[in-house]
Amino acid sequence: MEYSDSVDCFDPRQGLVPIADAEQRILDSVQPVSESDTVPLHNALDRVLCESAISDHNVPPHANSAMDGYAVAASSLPKQGSRKFRIAGTAFAGKPWGKPCTPDEVVQVMTGAVMPDGTDTVVIQEETSVSDGIAEIRAGQKPFQNVRSAGEDIAKGSIAVKAGTRLGPAELGVLASTGKDHVQVYKQPLAAVFSTGDEVMDAGEPLPPGGIYDSNRYTIMGLLQRTGLKVMNLGIIQDKLEATLASLEEASKKANIIITSGGVSTGSADYVIKALKQLGEVQLWRIAIRPGRPFAYGRIGNALFFGLPGNPVAVMVTYFRLVEPALRKLMGETNFNPAPIVSAKAITPFRKKPNRTEVYRAILSYDSEGEPVVESTGDQGSGLLQSMSRANCFVLLNDQDESAKPGDMVKIQLFESIF
Ligand code: AMP
Ligand code: MG
Repeated sequence: MEYSDSVDCFDPRQGLVPIADAEQRILDSVQPVSESDTVPLHNALDRVLCESAISDHNVPPHANSAMDGYAVAASSLPKQGSRKFRIAGTAFAGKPWGKPCTPDEVVQVMTGAVMPDGTDTVVIQEETSVSDGIAEIRAGQKPFQNVRSAGEDIAKGSIAVKAGTRLGPAELGVLASTGKDHVQVYKQPLAAVFSTGDEVMDAGEPLPPGGIYDSNRYTIMGLLQRTGLKVMNLGIIQDKLEATLASLEEASKKANIIITSGGVSTGSADYVIKALKQLGEVQLWRIAIRPGRPFAYGRIGNALFFGLPGNPVAVMVTYFRLVEPALRKLMGETNFNPAPIVSAKAITPFRKKPNRTEVYRAILSYDSEGEPVVESTGDQGSGLLQSMSRANCFVLLNDQDESAKPGDMVKIQLFESIF
C-alpha cells in the first residue's frame, strides 16, 4: 500500500507492503546517474561501464600456437604412415620466425608464437620424432589443431564489454586485452551513513549504563563499499526530532544517498519517519518481511533515502533485498541479477507465518552422499548479528510458502559467489 497522509503511519496494525511490491517500486523509482568519469583501468574494479567498449584490435592479434610443437600446413599432413619434414627454424612467443614455411618444412613453435606463413596446424612435440633437424609426423593429426586464430576471443570492431556492465576481474582483463588503459564509467554515487539512538555508542568510547556499541554503521559502510559506492560516515543521531531534521537535511545537500538505521519504527523515540515526512517524502514504509519490517524508503531533496531497521540482522537483509538492487541501478548497471536461488534439503525445521517473507540465516553443507543440505544457524533473533557471520546462505520462505520440516526442499541463496 502507498504511504499517504490519510493513513496513520504510526498505527502498527496498518498493512505491510509485500516484499516483491517494495522491491519493484523502489527499483522503478530510481534513475541511473548521468555523469561519468574516465578512470585508469587499474582503478576501475566494480565501476560500471557507461559506453560499450569496442575493440580496436583482434584478440588474439595474430594466429598463434596453443602448444609447444611443430607448425605445419594441414595439407602436408600424412593420411597414413608418417612423413618427414625439414625443421626450417624456431618461433618463440614475441619472436616470430618471419619467413614462409614450404609444404616440406615445419617450424618449431612455442606456445603463443605467431604461426609462420604457410602453416595452420601444430603437432605437439610429444607426438613428433625429431633427429638431425628432421621432424617425423605420423598420420592421425587433425588439420588446424592447436592453433588459436586471430580475433577468436574478441574480433576487431566488436563489443568487448557492454555498456551497463559492472567491471569485475574478468572484464578488467578483457578490456586490457584490447589495449585499453582508461575506461569511461558512471560517476560513483556518494552515500551518507548515520546510526540513530540515544543508547548507541561509537566503538572505542566507554559504554555508559544502558549503552550498546554501534554495529550497524560498520556493517552498512562495508555493504556500501562492496556495492561500489563512496561512503561518508556521519556518526550517530540522538533520538530528537530537531537533531534528526538537522542531520538529514545537511546530508541531503552533500550525498546522493542517505542511509540510516534504527528509529524507523512506531515507538515514541522513533523520529526518522517524522523527519522524512517534514523534509521530503515517504514512498514506502513497513515491509512484510522478517527480519526487516520497519524499513522506510523516500527522498530528501535530490537524495534517495533508505531508513533501515535498527536490528543488525534486519539491516543486512533489507540492504540485500531493497537497497542493493536500487543502488546498482543508480550506478548504471543494467545486467544485475541477485544471487541465484537454488534448492537444498532442510535438515532442521524452518517455521513460517502466513503473509510475510521470512529470511533465515543458515549453513549449507553436504551430507555423506554429497547432497547439499541446509540447517538453521539456530536462534533467529534479528539482533543476533553473529548468526550472519556464521551463516553461508539465506533460506527463503516466500509470502505463500509454508513451514519446512527436515527432509523438505527449501530455497536458498548463497552469500558468496565466485567472481
Ligand atoms: P530501533 O528501531 O531504533 O528501536 O532499534 C531496534 C533495536 O536495534 C534496538 O534494540 C536498538 O538498540 C538496536 N540498534 C539500533 N541501532 C543500532 C546500531 N547502530 N547498532 C546496533 N544495534 C542497534
Ligand atoms: Mg532507536
